[in-house]
Amino acid sequence: MVKFPDNYVAIDSVDCVRILIVDDEVDISDSLSVILEMHDERYTIKTASGLKQARSLVDEFKPDIALLDIKLGQDSGLDLLSWLKQEFEGVYCIMMTAFRETKYAVTAVKHGADDYLHKPVDAEQLLVAVTRATEIVDLNRQRIQTEKRFRAVFEQTFQWLLLADSNGVLLEANQVALDFRNLESTHVLGAALEDAPWWAGSPVTKEKLNQMLPSVSAGSFMRDEIQIKNSANKMITFDMSIKPINNHDGNIEMMLIECRDISDRKQAEMLVKKAHDDLEFKVAERTEELQAAMLRAETANRAKSDFLSRMSHELRTPMNAILGFSQLIQLQLEASSVKTDIKPDIDEIVMAGEHLLALINEVLDLAKIEGGNLKVDLEPVELECLMDECLVMIAPLAVSKNIEVVNYLSNADYTVIANHLRLKQVMINLLSNSVKYNKENGSVTVSSVVTDSKIKIIVKDTGIGLRPEQIEKLFRPFERVHDDPAIEGTGIGLVISKTLTNLMDGEIGVCSVYGQGSEFWIVLNLSAK
Ligand code: ADP
Repeated sequence: MVKFPDNYVAIDSVDCVRILIVDDEVDISDSLSVILEMHDERYTIKTASGLKQARSLVDEFKPDIALLDIKLGQDSGLDLLSWLKQEFEGVYCIMMTAFRETKYAVTAVKHGADDYLHKPVDAEQLLVAVTRATEIVDLNRQRIQTEKRFRAVFEQTFQWLLLADSNGVLLEANQVALDFRNLESTHVLGAALEDAPWWAGSPVTKEKLNQMLPSVSAGSFMRDEIQIKNSANKMITFDMSIKPINNHDGNIEMMLIECRDISDRKQAEMLVKKAHDDLEFKVAERTEELQAAMLRAETANRAKSDFLSRMSHELRTPMNAILGFSQLIQLQLEASSVKTDIKPDIDEIVMAGEHLLALINEVLDLAKIEGGNLKVDLEPVELECLMDECLVMIAPLAVSKNIEVVNYLSNADYTVIANHLRLKQVMINLLSNSVKYNKENGSVTVSSVVTDSKIKIIVKDTGIGLRPEQIEKLFRPFERVHDDPAIEGTGIGLVISKTLTNLMDGEIGVCSVYGQGSEFWIVLNLSAK
């Protein structure tokens, strides 16, 4: 609640000026009354003929201006003057007397009179005196109104406001500040700021104040975070600022102290910081776990690649021996005139051996890829030638499934930047897949599209095709997406093809419609002729 001074006048009654005339000669009071009423319609006038009547009237009437006769029958107008000045701060008193000597005027002023008129009162002099009094009454009211506005701001703000003089002696403290420690203004006003009761129990704050005040006295604006115990003994964090206020000469006249409760903000900041620290800790912990897991996975993978590589090498030597000797027997049988029925068995051994050797080579390639040891030398490679070699190799398989192979590259004179052996390996993988995953009596078409310095070689089949989710799994080791045991394979051909194509600066891809067929393609750089 904002408290206003007792003599505060509400704005709607500002226009009205209440004048009390006290004279034991009623005729005089009446005539003065008439003169004033005619002069200004703002004047509301009441008259009294004696001290007693005047006293009983003023309580309710609350005069702004009083015209008092010095002599009120047996009573003295000076007594009334003293009483009025004491009881109604701000009332403007004009004394009237028939005595001409100056000493009466002096006595009246000593009793608190604001002005003095000789009797009989001249109308003009009366109006001059009352008009002057009215101006002072108006100024007073404006001052009160302005003060009321500033006090409203002072008291209604949510933050503490303290006002101290240049020596740090407290002049004002708003209610918010007083309520914080259940204080009365009498407890703090007149006290030195650094000794005020708020900082009792907060020695650090007192210390800070002692450091800040000399700087403020020297003209600096100071600001700091402080902690103060409230009436429930809880420490509250405030943002405190002390501003010097200068007078007209530029000297420091007062200090304005503002304190804003920032404990909620501090709490929130603390929670955010804690959450941040927790998160950082968790991220660090998780990163460490992941690094350890990655290290374990890498070690395991390297061990697997080493094993595959060693096994393949170990298998290749005896495999080559088996193949070599069986091919030797094949040749001897062909050259001999002796009739024997073991030839088909030897052919089977050679075929199975070649198949096994191809598998071992693939596994060895995969081990090299995973170990990052596969190197490919690039050279110009004539496509037509290479394709012919590949088609010869897959022809028996195509014939066995009655699949027609159409090669649109047969007369194309293109040379690509690749590695003959490795490109052949890729093309054989794509071509053999297009036959393996084809339907009986289907077809395989090899075509190309040339753009700028690149060529796209497309192997299209009319086979079982691939679903989108199956396409996503392609090019991963051992991923056989059809899972049909009737079709031979290991699921590593496409992985090797992709790595080899990339090593030849090319790209590999697929598009397919399930049930209708697939198109596998590779893009390679053309060689400048
Ligand atoms: P493999 O043929 O030895 O299983 P690949 O790596 O060559 O291994 O192929 C991986 C998988 O991709 C095959 O198992 C098959 O499911 C699928 N695939 C490859 N080519 C085709 C194709 N032309 N049509 C349909 N599916 C194919």
